[in-house]
Amino acid sequence: MTQVEGERWVIASSNAGKLAEFRDLLGDAGPTCVPQQQLGVVDAEETGLSFIENALLKARHAAQATGLPALADDSGLCVDALDGAPGLYSARYAGGHGDAGANIAKLLAALAARPGTDRRARFVAVIAWLRHPLDPQPVVAQGVWQGRILGHPRGAGGFGYDPVFQPDGHDCSAAELAPALKNRLSHRGQALAALRRQLLDLA
Ligand code: IMP
Repeated sequence: MTQVEGERWVIASSNAGKLAEFRDLLGDAGPTCVPQQQLGVVDAEETGLSFIENALLKARHAAQATGLPALADDSGLCVDALDGAPGLYSARYAGGHGDAGANIAKLLAALAARPGTDRRARFVAVIAWLRHPLDPQPVVAQGVWQGRILGHPRGAGGFGYDPVFQPDGHDCSAAELAPALKNRLSHRGQALAALRRQLLDLA
């Protein structure tokens, strides 16, 4: 990604795992990625009604606050039998932000209340990149990881809903996959790869 060598980009996330994934994606010759927290930027309010709206508003907020090109992502789990819930509200499905145990318990209870129901689900991630806050042509990429919701949590790896998500083609939960394999297969991995291809095309 030599067209941006020497540039600084703000990353609209304070999640250490995501920051590492973004740095990997962009490579050593890419831009310097600075977490928005380090620049004194507080999290944007996620008022959008879709992943793409939230990714764009987070990126726009960070670009506006810093004057730098900005990268942001938004992701979640969509369950068919629950009309796409927890969806945009995946992190705070059970109330408190990021309480994975409570979120999983609420999800399993919601499906248990519908015996025999279809347990198909997918993780979705959208990543947006803006050159500046008024950029009319943002670069946007989406990744989707298909699977189903298990009856009980399995495995200790990953985060969030990983212990109850069985990816298609695998006889285990996402929390039982090696981290490198999960990163390659996952919604976020797919979105990052697609974004990278689009950024290279701009070169
Ligand atoms: P955000 O993109 O950081 O807002 O994440 C939204 C929420 O979706 C997370 O807090 C998790 O609950 C869930 N989520 C997103 N990606 C994953 C994943 O790869 N595994 C498990 N849960 C995920």
